Amino acid sequence: MSKKFKDCLTQSDKQAICTNFPALFKRHPAIDIGPGWENLIVKLCEEIVNTIKGTGVEIDILQIKEKFGTLRFYITRNQKALNEDNKYILSLVNSLISEAEDQSGRVCETCGSTKNVKTEECRNYYIKTLCKQCKFLYWL
Ligand SMILES: [Zn+2]
Repeated sequence: MSKKFKDCLTQSDKQAICTNFPALFKRHPAIDIGPGWENLIVKLCEEIVNTIKGTGVEIDILQIKEKFGTLRFYITRNQKALNEDNKYILSLVNSLISEAEDQSGRVCETCGSTKNVKTEECRNYYIKTLCKQCKFLYWL
């Protein structure tokens, strides 16, 4: 494996994300994604925080990872019962998550580029979303 290979966010990058969104990261979830998707999840966390602000809805992130080449973002809610307003807020949050997961299929997980990006099988049969250059540098 190449020394230049950048598969995962560094520990300090992960810590910074958790520190910036204390309301969402109470459980210290696993974050297993490449650095190219950092902006994508930071933007998503900002949108979730803005959506739930002042509503009483509480959300904890359980896990953030890559699966079959795209982002998976798992959350849980703290409340046992939700009123209709809160159900609506939760549906907004779920659509924000779906949008980000879709978008991850168009963003290189290693460098964040959106040019010449494809989700396809790479080395060892992994399916990854990568730009042409990162695929050539790290995954061929
Ligand atoms: Zn790339």
